[in-house]
Amino acid sequence: MYYSKLFIPTLKQSPADSEVVSHKLMVRAGMIRQLAAGIYSTLPLGLRVLKKVETILREEMNRIGGQEVFLPSVQPAELWQESGRWNLYGKELLRLKDRHDREFCYGPTHEEVITDIVRREVKSYRQLPLLMYQIQTKFRDEVRPRFGIMRGREFMMKDAYSFHADEASVQAMYEDMKQAYSNIFRRCGLDFKMVEADSGTIGGSFSHEFMVLADSGEDAIAFCDACDYASNVEKAAAKLPGKTDPPKTLEDLNKIPTPNQKTVEEVAKFLKVSPRQIVKTIVLENENGLVAGLVRGDRQINPIKLKNLIGCDWLHSAPESLITSKTNIPCGFIGPVDLDMNIYVDHEVAAMHNFVTGANSKDAHYTGVQFGRDIKATQVGDIHEVQEDDPCPRCDSGRYKVKRGIEVGHIFILGTKYSSAMKAHFLDEHGKENPMIMGCYGIGVGRTAAAAIEQNHDDKGIIWPVPLAPFQVVLIPVKFEEDSQRQACEEAYKILGDLGIETLLDDRPERLGVKFKDAELLGIPFQIIIGPKNLENGQVELKSRKTDTSELIDFPSGLQDIPSRLKTS
Ligand code: ATP
Ligand code: MG
Repeated sequence: MYYSKLFIPTLKQSPADSEVVSHKLMVRAGMIRQLAAGIYSTLPLGLRVLKKVETILREEMNRIGGQEVFLPSVQPAELWQESGRWNLYGKELLRLKDRHDREFCYGPTHEEVITDIVRREVKSYRQLPLLMYQIQTKFRDEVRPRFGIMRGREFMMKDAYSFHADEASVQAMYEDMKQAYSNIFRRCGLDFKMVEADSGTIGGSFSHEFMVLADSGEDAIAFCDACDYASNVEKAAAKLPGKTDPPKTLEDLNKIPTPNQKTVEEVAKFLKVSPRQIVKTIVLENENGLVAGLVRGDRQINPIKLKNLIGCDWLHSAPESLITSKTNIPCGFIGPVDLDMNIYVDHEVAAMHNFVTGANSKDAHYTGVQFGRDIKATQVGDIHEVQEDDPCPRCDSGRYKVKRGIEVGHIFILGTKYSSAMKAHFLDEHGKENPMIMGCYGIGVGRTAAAAIEQNHDDKGIIWPVPLAPFQVVLIPVKFEEDSQRQACEEAYKILGDLGIETLLDDRPERLGVKFKDAELLGIPFQIIIGPKNLENGQVELKSRKTDTSELIDFPSGLQDIPSRLKTS
Protein backbone atom coordinates (compact mmCIF):
# COMPACT_ATOMS: atom_id res chain seq x y z
CA MET A 1 0.00 0.00 0.00
CA TYR A 2 1.06 3.55 -0.65
CA TYR A 3 1.16 5.57 2.55
CA SER A 4 -0.34 8.66 0.89
CA LYS A 5 -3.48 6.70 -0.01
CA LEU A 6 -3.98 5.14 3.41
CA PHE A 7 -6.09 6.59 6.19
CA ILE A 8 -3.62 6.59 9.10
CA PRO A 9 -4.48 9.60 11.25
CA THR A 10 -1.46 9.60 13.60
CA LEU A 11 -1.33 11.91 16.60
CA LYS A 12 1.49 13.46 18.59
CA GLN A 13 -0.56 13.54 21.79
CA SER A 14 -2.07 10.64 23.72
CA PRO A 15 -5.76 10.86 24.63
CA ALA A 16 -6.30 12.56 27.98
CA ASP A 17 -8.08 9.58 29.54
CA SER A 18 -5.50 6.97 28.50
CA GLU A 19 -4.02 5.06 31.40
CA VAL A 20 -2.11 2.31 29.63
CA VAL A 21 0.44 2.37 26.87
CA SER A 22 -1.53 0.21 24.42
CA HIS A 23 -4.46 2.64 24.53
CA LYS A 24 -2.15 5.62 24.00
CA LEU A 25 -0.29 3.99 21.14
CA MET A 26 -3.33 2.57 19.35
CA VAL A 27 -4.88 6.02 19.27
CA ARG A 28 -1.63 7.78 18.37
CA ALA A 29 -0.90 5.26 15.59
CA GLY A 30 -4.32 5.95 14.08
CA MET A 31 -5.60 2.41 14.71
CA ILE A 32 -8.71 3.26 16.76
CA ARG A 33 -10.93 6.19 17.67
CA GLN A 34 -13.42 6.44 20.52
CA LEU A 35 -17.07 6.99 19.66
CA ALA A 36 -18.49 6.83 23.20
CA ALA A 37 -17.20 5.47 26.52
CA GLY A 38 -15.89 1.95 25.81
CA ILE A 39 -17.09 2.04 22.20
CA TYR A 40 -14.46 2.31 19.49
CA SER A 41 -14.20 2.52 15.73
CA THR A 42 -11.42 0.44 14.25
CA LEU A 43 -9.53 2.25 11.49
CA PRO A 44 -7.70 0.57 8.57
CA LEU A 45 -4.40 -0.03 10.34
CA GLY A 46 -6.15 -1.33 13.45
CA LEU A 47 -8.33 -3.63 11.41
CA ARG A 48 -5.31 -5.11 9.64
CA VAL A 49 -3.99 -6.15 13.06
CA LEU A 50 -7.32 -7.54 14.30
CA LYS A 51 -7.63 -9.56 11.08
CA LYS A 52 -4.19 -11.04 11.77
CA VAL A 53 -5.37 -12.19 15.18
CA GLU A 54 -8.59 -13.53 13.65
CA THR A 55 -6.70 -15.53 11.02
CA ILE A 56 -4.61 -17.20 13.70
CA LEU A 57 -7.78 -17.90 15.73
CA ARG A 58 -9.55 -19.44 12.74
CA GLU A 59 -6.59 -21.62 11.82
CA GLU A 60 -6.22 -22.99 15.33
CA MET A 61 -9.97 -23.49 15.86
CA ASN A 62 -10.31 -25.25 12.50
CA ARG A 63 -7.30 -27.42 13.29
CA ILE A 64 -9.11 -28.95 16.30
CA GLY A 65 -12.32 -29.47 14.37
CA GLY A 66 -14.13 -26.20 15.05
CA GLN A 67 -16.81 -25.09 12.59
CA GLU A 68 -17.34 -21.38 12.14
CA VAL A 69 -20.82 -19.91 12.63
CA PHE A 70 -22.15 -16.39 13.04
CA LEU A 71 -24.86 -15.90 15.65
CA PRO A 72 -27.13 -12.90 16.19
CA SER A 73 -25.95 -10.21 18.58
CA VAL A 74 -29.50 -9.30 19.62
CA GLN A 75 -30.97 -12.11 21.72
CA PRO A 76 -34.51 -12.62 23.07
CA ALA A 77 -34.96 -12.33 26.85
CA GLU A 78 -36.82 -15.67 26.98
CA LEU A 79 -33.63 -17.63 26.35
CA TRP A 80 -31.89 -15.82 29.19
CA GLN A 81 -34.85 -16.41 31.46
CA GLU A 82 -34.68 -20.12 30.63
CA SER A 83 -31.03 -20.31 31.59
CA GLY A 84 -31.72 -18.23 34.70
CA ARG A 85 -29.23 -15.53 33.73
CA TRP A 86 -31.71 -12.73 32.90
CA ASN A 87 -31.80 -11.72 36.56
CA LEU A 88 -28.34 -12.90 37.51
CA TYR A 89 -26.33 -10.98 34.93
CA GLY A 90 -27.13 -7.58 36.40
CA LYS A 91 -26.28 -4.27 34.85
CA GLU A 92 -23.59 -5.58 32.51
CA LEU A 93 -26.39 -6.93 30.33
CA LEU A 94 -27.63 -4.27 27.92
CA ARG A 95 -31.40 -4.81 27.77
CA LEU A 96 -33.50 -3.55 24.88
CA LYS A 97 -37.17 -3.48 23.92
CA ASP A 98 -38.48 -3.73 20.40
CA ARG A 99 -41.52 -1.85 19.03
CA HIS A 100 -43.83 -4.57 20.38
CA ASP A 101 -42.39 -4.13 23.84
CA ARG A 102 -40.65 -7.49 23.67
CA GLU A 103 -37.49 -7.74 25.72
CA PHE A 104 -34.08 -8.50 24.22
CA CYS A 105 -30.49 -8.11 25.18
CA TYR A 106 -27.36 -7.36 23.26
CA GLY A 107 -25.31 -10.53 23.65
CA PRO A 108 -22.45 -10.35 26.15
CA THR A 109 -21.82 -14.03 25.39
CA HIS A 110 -23.68 -16.73 23.44
CA GLU A 111 -24.23 -19.88 25.54
CA GLU A 112 -28.02 -19.49 25.38
CA VAL A 113 -28.21 -18.95 21.62
CA ILE A 114 -25.95 -21.84 20.69
CA THR A 115 -27.63 -24.18 23.20
CA ASP A 116 -30.98 -23.28 21.65
CA ILE A 117 -29.72 -24.18 18.18
CA VAL A 118 -28.18 -27.44 19.27
CA ARG A 119 -31.18 -28.61 21.32
CA ARG A 120 -33.39 -28.19 18.27
CA GLU A 121 -31.12 -30.04 15.84
CA VAL A 122 -29.08 -32.58 17.78
CA LYS A 123 -30.91 -35.62 19.12
CA SER A 124 -28.46 -38.49 19.14
CA TYR A 125 -25.04 -39.29 20.57
CA ARG A 126 -24.05 -40.02 16.97
CA GLN A 127 -24.15 -36.27 16.25
CA LEU A 128 -21.74 -35.52 19.10
CA PRO A 129 -19.19 -34.14 19.86
CA LEU A 130 -19.73 -30.81 18.17
CA LEU A 131 -17.50 -27.73 18.28
CA MET A 132 -18.71 -24.42 16.85
CA TYR A 133 -17.12 -21.00 17.08
CA GLN A 134 -17.68 -17.47 15.89
CA ILE A 135 -15.81 -14.18 15.80
CA GLN A 136 -18.32 -11.54 16.67
CA THR A 137 -19.14 -8.33 18.51
CA LYS A 138 -20.18 -8.55 22.16
CA PHE A 139 -21.63 -5.85 24.36
CA ARG A 140 -21.05 -5.72 28.10
CA ASP A 141 -22.02 -2.59 29.95
CA GLU A 142 -18.80 -2.66 31.99
CA VAL A 143 -18.78 -0.60 35.22
CA ARG A 144 -15.45 0.95 34.26
CA PRO A 145 -14.73 0.75 30.57
CA ARG A 146 -11.11 1.83 30.17
CA PHE A 147 -7.77 1.02 28.63
CA GLY A 148 -9.10 1.54 25.10
CA ILE A 149 -10.21 -1.69 23.43
CA MET A 150 -8.68 -3.77 26.21
CA ARG A 151 -11.77 -3.23 28.36
CA GLY A 152 -14.37 -1.85 26.04
CA ARG A 153 -18.13 -2.13 26.31
CA GLU A 154 -18.42 -3.24 22.69
CA PHE A 155 -15.64 -5.61 21.68
CA MET A 156 -14.78 -8.50 19.38
CA MET A 157 -14.60 -11.97 20.81
CA LYS A 158 -13.83 -15.38 19.43
CA ASP A 159 -16.21 -17.61 21.32
CA ALA A 160 -16.44 -21.35 20.88
CA TYR A 161 -18.89 -23.85 22.34
CA SER A 162 -18.68 -27.62 22.46
CA PHE A 163 -21.30 -30.29 23.11
CA HIS A 164 -20.53 -33.82 24.27
CA ALA A 165 -22.14 -37.13 25.12
CA ASP A 166 -19.79 -37.95 27.98
CA GLU A 167 -17.24 -36.57 30.40
CA ALA A 168 -14.24 -38.13 28.65
CA SER A 169 -15.17 -36.37 25.43
CA VAL A 170 -15.40 -32.91 27.01
CA GLN A 171 -12.12 -33.52 28.84
CA ALA A 172 -10.41 -34.41 25.55
CA MET A 173 -11.80 -31.25 23.94
CA TYR A 174 -10.62 -29.19 26.90
CA GLU A 175 -7.09 -30.55 26.45
CA ASP A 176 -7.25 -29.78 22.69
CA MET A 177 -8.41 -26.29 23.53
CA LYS A 178 -5.55 -25.72 25.99
CA GLN A 179 -3.17 -26.70 23.22
CA ALA A 180 -4.94 -24.55 20.61
CA TYR A 181 -4.94 -21.54 22.94
CA SER A 182 -1.27 -22.02 23.73
CA ASN A 183 -0.56 -22.18 19.98
CA ILE A 184 -2.61 -19.03 19.37
CA PHE A 185 -0.86 -16.89 21.97
CA ARG A 186 2.57 -18.26 21.05
CA ARG A 187 1.87 -17.48 17.39
CA CYS A 188 0.80 -13.95 18.39
CA GLY A 189 4.28 -13.54 19.90
CA LEU A 190 3.01 -13.18 23.48
CA ASP A 191 4.63 -14.11 26.79
CA PHE A 192 1.71 -15.77 28.60
CA LYS A 193 0.77 -18.15 31.40
CA MET A 194 -2.15 -20.55 31.68
CA VAL A 195 -3.70 -20.30 35.15
CA GLU A 196 -6.57 -21.92 37.03
CA ALA A 197 -9.52 -19.57 37.23
CA ASP A 198 -12.91 -18.94 38.74
CA SER A 199 -15.89 -19.53 36.47
CA GLY A 200 -17.71 -16.26 37.30
CA THR A 201 -21.18 -15.65 35.84
CA ILE A 202 -20.55 -18.04 32.94
CA GLY A 203 -20.74 -20.83 35.50
CA GLY A 204 -19.50 -24.38 35.25
CA SER A 205 -17.06 -26.42 37.17
CA PHE A 206 -13.62 -25.96 35.78
CA SER A 207 -11.80 -23.19 34.02
CA HIS A 208 -8.43 -21.81 32.97
CA GLU A 209 -7.42 -18.32 31.93
CA PHE A 210 -4.62 -17.35 29.61
CA MET A 211 -2.77 -14.39 31.04
CA VAL A 212 -0.37 -12.12 29.22
CA LEU A 213 2.21 -11.00 31.76
CA ALA A 214 2.24 -7.20 32.01
CA ASP A 215 2.43 -4.73 34.90
CA SER A 216 -0.64 -2.95 33.56
CA GLY A 217 -2.72 -6.15 33.88
CA GLU A 218 -5.92 -5.91 35.92
CA ASP A 219 -5.58 -9.45 37.28
CA ALA A 220 -3.14 -10.76 39.83
CA ILE A 221 -1.82 -14.23 39.19
CA ALA A 222 -0.11 -16.43 41.73
CA PHE A 223 2.24 -19.18 40.69
CA CYS A 224 4.54 -21.52 42.51
CA ASP A 225 8.28 -21.02 42.13
CA ALA A 226 8.88 -24.78 42.38
CA CYS A 227 5.98 -26.67 40.73
CA ASP A 228 3.67 -25.80 37.84
CA TYR A 229 0.67 -24.68 39.92
CA ALA A 230 -0.54 -21.30 38.68
CA SER A 231 -3.85 -19.62 39.44
CA ASN A 232 -5.66 -16.35 39.28
CA VAL A 233 -5.37 -14.86 42.78
CA GLU A 234 -9.20 -14.86 42.77
CA LYS A 235 -9.04 -18.62 43.05
CA ALA A 236 -5.51 -19.39 44.31
CA ALA A 237 -5.67 -21.89 47.14
CA ALA A 238 -3.91 -21.35 50.45
CA LYS A 239 -1.92 -24.13 52.09
CA LEU A 240 -3.77 -25.50 55.11
CA PRO A 241 -2.06 -24.41 58.32
CA GLY A 242 -0.08 -27.23 59.96
CA LYS A 243 -1.20 -28.64 63.29
CA THR A 244 0.17 -26.58 66.18
CA ASP A 245 -0.16 -27.37 69.87
CA PRO A 246 -2.42 -24.98 71.76
CA PRO A 247 -0.59 -22.58 74.08
CA LYS A 248 -0.31 -23.53 77.77
CA THR A 249 -2.78 -20.91 78.90
CA LEU A 250 -6.02 -20.29 77.12
CA GLU A 251 -7.00 -16.81 78.17
CA ASP A 252 -10.51 -15.81 79.18
CA LEU A 253 -12.63 -13.56 77.05
CA ASN A 254 -11.90 -10.02 78.15
CA LYS A 255 -13.66 -6.89 76.91
CA ILE A 256 -11.34 -3.90 76.92
CA PRO A 257 -11.78 -0.27 75.89
CA THR A 258 -10.19 0.72 72.57
CA PRO A 259 -11.39 4.30 72.05
CA ASN A 260 -11.39 5.28 68.37
CA GLN A 261 -9.15 2.32 67.46
CA LYS A 262 -10.87 0.89 64.38
CA THR A 263 -8.37 -0.47 61.88
CA VAL A 264 -6.20 -3.52 62.45
CA GLU A 265 -3.12 -1.30 62.47
CA GLU A 266 -4.60 1.04 65.09
CA VAL A 267 -5.75 -1.79 67.34
CA ALA A 268 -2.44 -3.66 66.99
CA LYS A 269 -0.50 -0.57 67.98
CA PHE A 270 -2.85 0.29 70.81
CA LEU A 271 -2.82 -3.20 72.33
CA LYS A 272 0.84 -3.82 71.43
CA VAL A 273 0.08 -7.04 69.58
CA SER A 274 0.96 -8.21 66.07
CA PRO A 275 -1.76 -7.86 63.38
CA ARG A 276 -1.43 -11.66 63.15
CA GLN A 277 -3.01 -11.88 66.66
CA ILE A 278 -6.06 -9.95 65.50
CA VAL A 279 -9.00 -11.43 63.60
CA LYS A 280 -10.80 -9.20 61.11
CA THR A 281 -14.55 -9.56 60.72
CA ILE A 282 -15.63 -8.56 57.23
CA VAL A 283 -19.35 -8.18 56.64
CA LEU A 284 -20.64 -8.89 53.15
CA GLU A 285 -24.04 -9.03 51.54
CA ASN A 286 -25.57 -11.76 49.39
CA GLU A 287 -29.04 -12.73 48.22
CA ASN A 288 -29.89 -13.98 51.73
CA GLY A 289 -28.71 -10.93 53.67
CA LEU A 290 -25.52 -10.22 55.61
CA VAL A 291 -22.74 -12.74 56.21
CA ALA A 292 -19.43 -12.39 58.05
CA GLY A 293 -16.01 -13.67 56.96
CA LEU A 294 -13.15 -13.98 59.44
CA VAL A 295 -9.53 -13.68 58.36
CA ARG A 296 -6.27 -13.00 60.17
CA GLY A 297 -5.50 -9.29 60.66
CA ASP A 298 -2.66 -9.22 58.14
CA ARG A 299 -4.79 -10.90 55.45
CA GLN A 300 -7.36 -9.74 52.94
CA ILE A 301 -10.58 -11.65 52.51
CA ASN A 302 -11.09 -13.20 49.06
CA PRO A 303 -14.78 -12.64 48.25
CA ILE A 304 -14.73 -15.05 45.31
CA LYS A 305 -13.43 -17.95 47.39
CA LEU A 306 -15.98 -17.04 50.07
CA LYS A 307 -18.81 -16.91 47.51
CA ASN A 308 -17.81 -20.36 46.26
CA LEU A 309 -17.64 -21.71 49.83
CA ILE A 310 -21.13 -20.40 50.61
CA GLY A 311 -22.48 -21.43 47.22
CA CYS A 312 -24.51 -18.22 46.85
CA ASP A 313 -25.45 -16.45 43.62
CA TRP A 314 -23.66 -13.22 44.42
CA LEU A 315 -21.63 -11.64 47.20
CA HIS A 316 -20.53 -8.02 47.60
CA SER A 317 -19.00 -6.02 50.41
CA ALA A 318 -21.87 -4.53 52.39
CA PRO A 319 -22.15 -0.74 52.63
CA GLU A 320 -21.41 0.67 56.08
CA SER A 321 -24.91 2.16 56.35
CA LEU A 322 -26.52 -1.24 55.75
CA ILE A 323 -24.31 -2.94 58.34
CA THR A 324 -25.03 -0.39 61.07
CA SER A 325 -28.75 -0.28 60.32
CA LYS A 326 -29.04 -4.09 60.45
CA THR A 327 -26.71 -4.81 63.38
CA ASN A 328 -26.56 -1.61 65.37
CA ILE A 329 -22.81 -2.13 65.65
CA PRO A 330 -20.49 0.68 64.62
CA CYS A 331 -18.04 -0.31 61.88
CA GLY A 332 -14.54 -0.95 63.14
CA PHE A 333 -15.81 -2.76 66.24
CA ILE A 334 -17.66 -5.72 64.72
CA GLY A 335 -16.55 -9.11 65.96
CA PRO A 336 -17.73 -12.72 65.71
CA VAL A 337 -18.63 -13.30 69.38
CA ASP A 338 -22.46 -13.51 69.58
CA LEU A 339 -22.77 -12.00 66.13
CA ASP A 340 -26.18 -12.77 64.69
CA MET A 341 -25.37 -13.83 61.14
CA ASN A 342 -23.72 -16.72 59.32
CA ILE A 343 -20.00 -16.70 60.10
CA TYR A 344 -17.43 -18.16 57.72
CA VAL A 345 -14.00 -18.72 59.20
CA ASP A 346 -10.69 -18.97 57.42
CA HIS A 347 -8.60 -22.07 58.19
CA GLU A 348 -5.85 -19.87 59.58
CA VAL A 349 -8.26 -18.28 62.08
CA ALA A 350 -9.57 -21.68 63.15
CA ALA A 351 -6.00 -22.60 64.14
CA MET A 352 -5.45 -19.44 66.25
CA HIS A 353 -5.67 -19.01 70.04
CA ASN A 354 -5.84 -16.02 72.37
CA PHE A 355 -6.69 -13.53 69.67
CA VAL A 356 -8.30 -10.11 69.45
CA THR A 357 -11.62 -9.24 67.78
CA GLY A 358 -14.11 -6.40 67.79
CA ALA A 359 -16.55 -6.56 70.76
CA ASN A 360 -19.66 -5.46 68.86
CA SER A 361 -19.94 -2.22 70.79
CA LYS A 362 -18.41 1.19 70.25
CA ASP A 363 -14.79 1.65 71.36
CA ALA A 364 -14.33 -1.92 72.61
CA HIS A 365 -12.49 -5.10 71.60
CA TYR A 366 -12.20 -8.56 73.07
CA THR A 367 -8.89 -10.17 73.89
CA GLY A 368 -8.39 -13.84 74.77
CA VAL A 369 -10.86 -14.99 72.10
CA GLN A 370 -10.81 -18.76 71.39
CA PHE A 371 -12.21 -20.08 68.15
CA GLY A 372 -14.03 -23.21 69.38
CA ARG A 373 -15.16 -21.69 72.67
CA ASP A 374 -16.33 -18.20 71.71
CA ILE A 375 -17.25 -18.32 68.03
CA LYS A 376 -20.06 -20.25 66.40
CA ALA A 377 -18.74 -20.90 62.92
CA THR A 378 -21.18 -21.70 60.13
CA GLN A 379 -18.29 -23.18 58.16
CA VAL A 380 -14.51 -23.20 58.13
CA GLY A 381 -12.80 -22.87 54.74
CA ASP A 382 -10.11 -21.26 52.62
CA ILE A 383 -11.26 -17.65 52.26
CA HIS A 384 -8.19 -15.42 52.42
CA GLU A 385 -6.28 -14.01 49.50
CA VAL A 386 -2.84 -15.53 49.00
CA GLN A 387 0.24 -13.32 48.90
CA GLU A 388 3.75 -13.46 47.52
CA ASP A 389 5.93 -15.89 49.53
CA ASP A 390 2.99 -17.84 50.99
CA PRO A 391 3.66 -21.60 50.81
CA CYS A 392 2.37 -23.41 47.71
CA PRO A 393 -0.66 -25.62 48.43
CA ARG A 394 0.35 -28.24 45.87
CA CYS A 395 3.99 -28.99 46.63
CA ASP A 396 6.22 -29.21 49.71
CA SER A 397 8.90 -26.68 49.00
CA GLY A 398 7.47 -23.99 46.72
CA ARG A 399 6.41 -20.45 47.52
CA TYR A 400 3.99 -18.20 45.68
CA LYS A 401 5.14 -15.48 43.32
CA VAL A 402 2.49 -12.91 42.40
CA LYS A 403 2.51 -11.02 39.10
CA ARG A 404 0.09 -8.91 37.10
CA GLY A 405 -1.56 -10.33 34.01
CA ILE A 406 -4.01 -9.38 31.26
CA GLU A 407 -6.65 -12.05 30.71
CA VAL A 408 -6.75 -12.67 26.98
CA GLY A 409 -8.47 -16.04 26.93
CA HIS A 410 -10.73 -18.08 29.17
CA ILE A 411 -11.82 -21.71 28.79
CA PHE A 412 -14.54 -23.46 30.79
CA ILE A 413 -16.00 -26.87 31.27
CA LEU A 414 -19.65 -25.96 31.78
CA GLY A 415 -20.96 -29.43 32.51
CA THR A 416 -24.74 -29.53 32.13
CA LYS A 417 -25.53 -26.08 33.56
CA TYR A 418 -27.08 -24.75 30.33
CA SER A 419 -28.15 -28.02 28.78
CA SER A 420 -30.12 -29.02 31.89
CA ALA A 421 -31.73 -25.60 32.31
CA MET A 422 -32.57 -25.38 28.60
CA LYS A 423 -33.29 -29.08 28.05
CA ALA A 424 -30.61 -29.71 25.46
CA HIS A 425 -30.96 -33.48 25.65
CA PHE A 426 -29.74 -36.35 23.47
CA LEU A 427 -30.32 -40.10 23.35
CA ASP A 428 -27.29 -42.18 24.31
CA GLU A 429 -26.42 -45.54 22.73
CA HIS A 430 -28.85 -47.28 25.14
CA GLY A 431 -31.69 -44.99 24.09
CA LYS A 432 -31.55 -43.09 27.39
CA GLU A 433 -32.09 -39.33 27.44
CA ASN A 434 -29.29 -37.22 28.96
CA PRO A 435 -28.36 -33.54 29.03
CA MET A 436 -25.38 -32.75 26.81
CA ILE A 437 -22.11 -31.86 28.50
CA MET A 438 -20.76 -28.51 27.38
CA GLY A 439 -17.60 -26.45 27.24
CA CYS A 440 -17.10 -22.84 26.22
CA TYR A 441 -13.98 -21.01 25.19
CA GLY A 442 -13.39 -17.27 24.62
CA ILE A 443 -10.62 -15.00 23.39
CA GLY A 444 -10.78 -11.20 23.15
CA VAL A 445 -9.54 -10.21 19.71
CA GLY A 446 -8.86 -6.53 20.46
CA ARG A 447 -7.58 -7.32 23.93
CA THR A 448 -5.04 -9.75 22.46
CA ALA A 449 -3.77 -7.08 20.06
CA ALA A 450 -3.62 -4.51 22.88
CA ALA A 451 -1.82 -6.99 25.14
CA ALA A 452 0.78 -7.49 22.41
CA ILE A 453 1.47 -3.75 22.55
CA GLU A 454 1.69 -3.78 26.35
CA GLN A 455 4.49 -6.32 25.99
CA ASN A 456 6.16 -4.89 22.90
CA HIS A 457 6.77 -1.15 22.79
CA ASP A 458 9.34 1.50 23.58
CA ASP A 459 9.21 5.27 24.01
CA LYS A 460 9.01 5.72 20.22
CA GLY A 461 6.00 3.50 19.67
CA ILE A 462 4.78 -0.02 19.00
CA ILE A 463 7.13 -2.91 18.22
CA TRP A 464 4.76 -5.41 16.60
CA PRO A 465 5.51 -9.10 16.82
CA VAL A 466 5.82 -10.03 13.11
CA PRO A 467 2.63 -12.18 13.00
CA LEU A 468 0.44 -9.28 14.15
CA ALA A 469 2.15 -6.42 12.30
CA PRO A 470 -0.18 -4.46 10.00
CA PHE A 471 2.66 -4.38 7.46
CA GLN A 472 5.87 -6.32 7.75
CA VAL A 473 8.08 -3.89 5.86
CA VAL A 474 7.98 -0.14 5.26
CA LEU A 475 9.95 1.34 2.38
CA ILE A 476 11.29 4.76 3.29
CA PRO A 477 12.86 6.76 0.45
CA VAL A 478 14.95 9.73 1.50
CA LYS A 479 13.16 11.67 -1.25
CA PHE A 480 10.42 9.85 -3.18
CA GLU A 481 10.26 12.65 -5.73
CA GLU A 482 13.75 11.74 -7.04
CA ASP A 483 13.39 9.47 -10.08
CA SER A 484 16.03 6.92 -9.09
CA GLN A 485 14.63 6.55 -5.56
CA ARG A 486 11.06 6.33 -6.80
CA GLN A 487 11.99 3.65 -9.30
CA ALA A 488 13.93 1.69 -6.66
CA CYS A 489 10.97 1.96 -4.28
CA GLU A 490 8.55 0.71 -6.91
CA GLU A 491 10.87 -2.15 -7.84
CA ALA A 492 11.31 -3.13 -4.17
CA TYR A 493 7.56 -2.87 -3.61
CA LYS A 494 6.92 -5.29 -6.48
CA ILE A 495 9.59 -7.77 -5.42
CA LEU A 496 8.42 -7.81 -1.80
CA GLY A 497 4.80 -8.13 -2.94
CA ASP A 498 5.76 -11.13 -5.07
CA LEU A 499 7.44 -12.63 -2.00
CA GLY A 500 4.11 -12.32 -0.16
CA ILE A 501 5.28 -9.55 2.15
CA GLU A 502 2.83 -6.85 3.14
CA THR A 503 4.69 -3.66 2.35
CA LEU A 504 3.96 -0.02 3.06
CA LEU A 505 5.59 2.43 0.71
CA ASP A 506 6.04 5.84 2.31
CA ASP A 507 5.54 7.99 -0.80
CA ARG A 508 4.62 11.11 1.17
CA PRO A 509 6.43 14.35 0.45
CA GLU A 510 7.48 14.54 4.12
CA ARG A 511 10.83 15.15 5.75
CA LEU A 512 12.84 11.99 6.38
CA GLY A 513 12.59 12.55 10.15
CA VAL A 514 8.80 12.54 9.99
CA LYS A 515 8.77 9.30 7.99
CA PHE A 516 11.09 7.62 10.52
CA LYS A 517 8.98 8.79 13.46
CA ASP A 518 5.80 7.43 11.91
CA ALA A 519 7.41 4.10 10.97
CA GLU A 520 8.55 3.74 14.58
CA LEU A 521 5.20 4.75 16.02
CA LEU A 522 3.37 2.25 13.77
CA GLY A 523 5.83 -0.44 14.85
CA ILE A 524 6.52 -2.04 11.48
CA PRO A 525 9.14 -4.77 12.00
CA PHE A 526 11.52 -3.78 9.15
CA GLN A 527 12.30 -0.45 7.53
CA ILE A 528 14.10 -0.37 4.20
CA ILE A 529 15.67 3.03 3.72
CA ILE A 530 16.35 3.96 0.13
CA GLY A 531 18.84 6.83 -0.29
CA PRO A 532 20.85 8.17 -3.20
CA LYS A 533 24.33 7.33 -1.90
CA ASN A 534 23.61 3.71 -1.06
CA LEU A 535 21.69 3.24 -4.30
CA GLU A 536 24.76 4.33 -6.27
CA ASN A 537 26.60 1.43 -4.60
CA GLY A 538 23.74 -0.95 -5.38
CA GLN A 539 22.61 -1.08 -1.73
CA VAL A 540 19.78 -0.11 0.62
CA GLU A 541 19.65 0.05 4.40
CA LEU A 542 17.64 -2.54 6.30
CA LYS A 543 16.66 -1.57 9.84
CA SER A 544 15.01 -3.75 12.47
CA ARG A 545 12.45 -2.04 14.71
CA LYS A 546 12.99 -4.57 17.47
CA THR A 547 16.79 -4.52 17.72
CA ASP A 548 17.17 -0.95 16.41
CA THR A 549 20.11 -2.13 14.29
CA SER A 550 20.77 -1.43 10.61
CA GLU A 551 22.78 -3.11 7.91
CA LEU A 552 23.37 -2.51 4.24
CA ILE A 553 21.97 -5.13 1.90
CA ASP A 554 22.45 -5.52 -1.83
CA PHE A 555 19.66 -4.09 -3.92
CA PRO A 556 17.60 -5.77 -5.22
CA SER A 557 19.06 -9.26 -4.59
CA GLY A 558 19.18 -8.84 -0.78
CA LEU A 559 15.39 -8.50 -0.67
CA GLN A 560 15.10 -12.23 -1.28
CA ASP A 561 16.24 -12.87 2.33
CA ILE A 562 13.51 -10.76 3.88
CA PRO A 563 11.00 -13.62 4.31
CA SER A 564 13.52 -15.69 6.26
CA ARG A 565 14.54 -12.67 8.34
CA LEU A 566 10.88 -12.08 9.19
CA LYS A 567 10.51 -15.70 10.26
CA THR A 568 13.42 -15.55 12.68
CA SER A 569 12.85 -12.07 14.11
P1 ATP B 1 -12.78 -9.83 32.58
O1 ATP B 1 -12.60 -10.55 33.86
O2 ATP B 1 -11.53 -9.20 32.07
O3 ATP B 1 -13.96 -8.93 32.56
P2 ATP B 1 -14.29 -12.01 31.63
O4 ATP B 1 -13.88 -13.11 32.54
O5 ATP B 1 -15.53 -11.29 31.87
O6 ATP B 1 -13.09 -10.95 31.52
P3 ATP B 1 -14.92 -13.85 29.51
O7 ATP B 1 -16.37 -13.79 29.74
O8 ATP B 1 -14.18 -15.05 29.88
O9 ATP B 1 -14.23 -12.54 30.15
O10 ATP B 1 -14.64 -13.45 27.99
C1 ATP B 1 -13.66 -14.08 27.19
C2 ATP B 1 -12.61 -13.11 26.72
O11 ATP B 1 -13.18 -11.93 26.15
C3 ATP B 1 -11.72 -12.58 27.82
O12 ATP B 1 -10.70 -13.51 28.11
C4 ATP B 1 -11.18 -11.31 27.22
O13 ATP B 1 -10.08 -11.59 26.36
C5 ATP B 1 -12.33 -10.82 26.37
N1 ATP B 1 -13.07 -9.75 27.05
C6 ATP B 1 -13.93 -9.86 28.09
N2 ATP B 1 -14.41 -8.66 28.43
C7 ATP B 1 -13.85 -7.76 27.60
C8 ATP B 1 -13.96 -6.34 27.45
N3 ATP B 1 -14.76 -5.64 28.23
N4 ATP B 1 -13.24 -5.74 26.46
C9 ATP B 1 -12.44 -6.46 25.65
N5 ATP B 1 -12.29 -7.80 25.75
C10 ATP B 1 -12.98 -8.45 26.70
MG1 MG C 1 -15.90 -9.35 32.49
